Amino acid sequence: MDAKDDSQPGPTVGEVGELEVLDRIVRRLPAGDPVIGPGDDCAVLAAPDGRYVVTTDMMVHGPDFRWAWSSPEDIGWKAAATNLSDVAAMGATPTGLVIALAAPQDTPVSVLERFADGVRLAVEALAPACGVVGGDLSTSSTFTVSVTAFGDLGGRAPVLRSGAEPGDVVAVSGELGRAARGLARLFRDGVDAAGEPSRAATVASGADADSDALRQRRPVPPIADGVAAAGAGATAMLDLSDGLAIDGGRLARASRVTLDLDPTVVEEGPALHGGEDHGLLATFPPGMPLPAGFRRIGSVRERGEHDVLRGGRPVPTSGWDPYADWDGAAG
Ligand SMILES: [Mg+2]
Repeated sequence: MDAKDDSQPGPTVGEVGELEVLDRIVRRLPAGDPVIGPGDDCAVLAAPDGRYVVTTDMMVHGPDFRWAWSSPEDIGWKAAATNLSDVAAMGATPTGLVIALAAPQDTPVSVLERFADGVRLAVEALAPACGVVGGDLSTSSTFTVSVTAFGDLGGRAPVLRSGAEPGDVVAVSGELGRAARGLARLFRDGVDAAGEPSRAATVASGADADSDALRQRRPVPPIADGVAAAGAGATAMLDLSDGLAIDGGRLARASRVTLDLDPTVVEEGPALHGGEDHGLLATFPPGMPLPAGFRRIGSVRERGEHDVLRGGRPVPTSGWDPYADWDGAAG
């Protein structure tokens, strides 16, 4: 276990055993309002719409997060928030989360309790009607968490990526580029002399307290804005997990259109190419007021040679890669 920011870690998962660990975690999680909740073989959720949306997203120590940079609370928050964001991007309201987690045997139980606290804080802040309705625990040499989220469409049509029409307005909700700036800060200042992520360097440099790095560790997706966009007639929508250029490219290809971004509103750099912001990108019919939270950033054109333009010039629809960027700076 290398969640190093816990100086009094207490007993480990292996010492305490699965049943007690589960008991200590479940009581910290948000309950929500399932028909049948945790403790039976399955949870039962209401689906008043007659359909439900479902999504899943996994986080693995190494490729997806580093203990040197993220606390257990951060990981719980982010695992919940990224899944809630995908539900919102369909125009649905999150109704339940199912969480599967595998931790090394020597993981302090307190780390899993703090993970659960992060899940609870995210749900309370972002989707208070949602709850954790079930899950599973296992062991693995690599800390791994998988969250599945369910959501209700409330009788509305789901908002797909494929519905944008030429003439539509392109709009976003949420801030652009902060998570990428935060991750760049961690890669620059939160590493040791050998270039490895380092808790000591992160704290000593102040990168730990950087507000953009906090956004990278704890994204704040505008969950309610997804339902508002659906209600306002959004023609297409997705959440910004890989950056405006890549995700805009996905929406453009699915809808068989070209997005033209306004260069006076969208700057080059992290706002265009940075990932993990988890705002919402949506298109709306022209000539109508945008729902609260959304601002215009461009317009939809007939499908051309490129997926995304900025002021008429092609935007590469590849993501900003912090590893490549940082390697370049170091080398
Ligand atoms: Mg998504």
